[in-house]
Amino acid sequence: MYADVLVQYGAKTLDRTFTYHIPDSLIDDVKVGMKVYVPFGAQKINGFVVAINDDKPNKETKDIIAIVTKDFVLNSELMELGKYIQEKTLCSLITAYQAMLPTALKVNNSKEDYNLYKNYVYLSASLTDVDTYILHNMRSKRQIEILESLKNGPLLKKDIPSSSLEKLLAVGLVKCRKESVYRINPVCTDAKKRELIDEQNVAFDAVVSKKNEYGVFLLHGVTGSGKTEVYMHLVAEVLKDGKRAIVLVPEISLTTQIVKRFYERFGEQVAIFHSNLSDGEKYDEYKKIMNDEVSIVVGTRSAIFTPLKNIGIIIIDEEHSSNYKQENNPRYNAIDIAKWRASYHKCPVILGSATPSLESMARAMKGVYNYLSLQNRIGNAKLPTIHIVDMASEYKKRNMILSDFLKEKIMGCLERGEQIMLLLNRRGYSTIMMCQSCGYTYKCPHCDITLTYHKSSNHLRCHYCGYTTFNSEICPECHERAIRDYGLGTEKVESYIKELYPSYRVVRMDTDTTSRKGSYEKIITNIENHEYDIIIGTQMISKGFDFPLVTLVGIINADESLNIPDFRSGENTFSLLSQVSGRAGRHDLPGEVVIQTFNPDNKTLRYVQKNDYLGNYKYEMNLRKQLRYPPYYYLVGIKVLSKNYETASKEATKIANYLRNNISASSICLGPTTARMFRINNVYRFQLIVKYRQDDKLMDSLKYIDSEYVFNKDVNLEIDIDPLHI
Ligand code: ADP
Ligand code: ZN
Repeated sequence: MYADVLVQYGAKTLDRTFTYHIPDSLIDDVKVGMKVYVPFGAQKINGFVVAINDDKPNKETKDIIAIVTKDFVLNSELMELGKYIQEKTLCSLITAYQAMLPTALKVNNSKEDYNLYKNYVYLSASLTDVDTYILHNMRSKRQIEILESLKNGPLLKKDIPSSSLEKLLAVGLVKCRKESVYRINPVCTDAKKRELIDEQNVAFDAVVSKKNEYGVFLLHGVTGSGKTEVYMHLVAEVLKDGKRAIVLVPEISLTTQIVKRFYERFGEQVAIFHSNLSDGEKYDEYKKIMNDEVSIVVGTRSAIFTPLKNIGIIIIDEEHSSNYKQENNPRYNAIDIAKWRASYHKCPVILGSATPSLESMARAMKGVYNYLSLQNRIGNAKLPTIHIVDMASEYKKRNMILSDFLKEKIMGCLERGEQIMLLLNRRGYSTIMMCQSCGYTYKCPHCDITLTYHKSSNHLRCHYCGYTTFNSEICPECHERAIRDYGLGTEKVESYIKELYPSYRVVRMDTDTTSRKGSYEKIITNIENHEYDIIIGTQMISKGFDFPLVTLVGIINADESLNIPDFRSGENTFSLLSQVSGRAGRHDLPGEVVIQTFNPDNKTLRYVQKNDYLGNYKYEMNLRKQLRYPPYYYLVGIKVLSKNYETASKEATKIANYLRNNISASSICLGPTTARMFRINNVYRFQLIVKYRQDDKLMDSLKYIDSEYVFNKDVNLEIDIDPLHI
């Protein structure tokens, strides 16, 4: 027997398999989807078996040396899925499989055992023998105590004093045993099952009536309308049929609350999967899923690849979030993967959002998706009142961070003992440090980016490559002591707020304060327990949270998001601001939102104020149509990267010319232009954009270009199909 083995070798991967002979000793064990250890040139490396066949190849073959992980096999569905990802994103097959697997199981990982073991002590003699021993040793109180408790089951070795253990081992009454245990062990604590009400029932019934076929449902429900509750009922329904469910959320910060709700309701039937778990935890959760020990997977983007079998529903919450798209190779979108898997299992996909992406809404309008809506908040909690404050006049009053109006609202809230969320979409202390005397600004020496000041460590940091340098008050250019900070980051807002409200408790939530393991959970629990009065954060605080005491949301600078030069900035601003507004007044207390801006008449902000999703949808769709952007046109983004400026520019032009001659006449190829981040880590970046509606030639042309550069050492290509940002 022979096996085709896919290996990962070299920086630019060879996308092909190599045939190996399966020695007799392994013939019964080797299966498709297994990781094996093979000779490769002068080395030995790991690879995946992708096919097994009888025919002896013409060439001479070497033997497979060993199976790497016996109890792990990539199942046939996931083997197929890898091919879909390869086709869809133009990555190599091995890259697709690697992306699908947790670190512990990636092909090149050679650490063997990720299991966590514990030593147990258990009774190895009959109860009669034990009781006889007890009778004859009445004075050995400690030993008797241990024996009595062992009658109820094994104990952890570490909990038994070693002197007692030695004696019991010596008389042959107990034995020790090493057992692998799971690191995460949820328990079900929630008996109260809520009944769905009105609109929730309509949505639920609509999905249930088509639960055994593939179909996509867009659940458009205002914030606080009970979407999560609908998800849980749908999952329960699927479980009743003996099927399983995947639930995706866009950010790790959001898994905390939703996982808690799923744990409470479904207990140990739930596995979680996100990048903040340790390699060992991920391995455990993956194992639970692979061995059919759980029925529900809750997690972020990569959870869509977990080997859950017999899937009955896939739910994607906050479906508009850009986090579902992976920005590096393979550039897949978890929504596409969900659709693929759902059609494989013939089950529904639920896309939930208060602000669906234009693409999803457009599909719902055309009837491609089933449209479901929840228009009212639970318990008739009202949507918050939204105020827009013109910051131009506030600046004249030297109010650079908070307007008088917002200050007044904050004070009222604090006095009533309620909580406040302040959103600013930029972390760090201030955006830039600039010399007042000569205008010098700190820039990253490797990237075309201004450095961000972090006050707590007195560092300047590049948010692209991580380059870090100390801040100095003296200008490196003109040597004047005139470096001052301009702009605003979460850290600066935090120190300002702390000064302004010294007797209140303030917490900051952004990637800097949540990078340590467990820090999300801690902050969130503390907010729930009202240990903080004011929460300052980036978009991380905008989605999904349900904190009953939050009644005021302040958006420090709405222009930040509006001014991003991207065709989606209007859409993204609308959803960011609507989402964060949705954090206010979710329960009995009414909520208010204050938006600070220099563009008080901006259309997007006005739609946010009126809570007019459809108005904004129509407005944006009209712009997209005129400018030929999605959802009217599809996009492909191509980046040409080189350390050499001339090379990057020359090759980009060459590619543009090739494309113009080799795509259909109705498609448009724009560029090359310099990319928005023109230089990152000393690499120059040029970009091309292809816009198309239908193009039979495009994919082949892209594949051809891609193959032309695979082995080019000086030039790298990044092809992004359906990019979210250009
Ligand atoms: P969404 O996911 O749309 O933001 P949630 O599912 O979090 O909304 O619901 C908002 C609040 O209303 C939550 O506190 C939730 O527990 C409560 N809730 C949802 N559905 C019901 C229901 N049918 N009966 C009672 N309370 C509900
Ligand atoms: Zn940099």
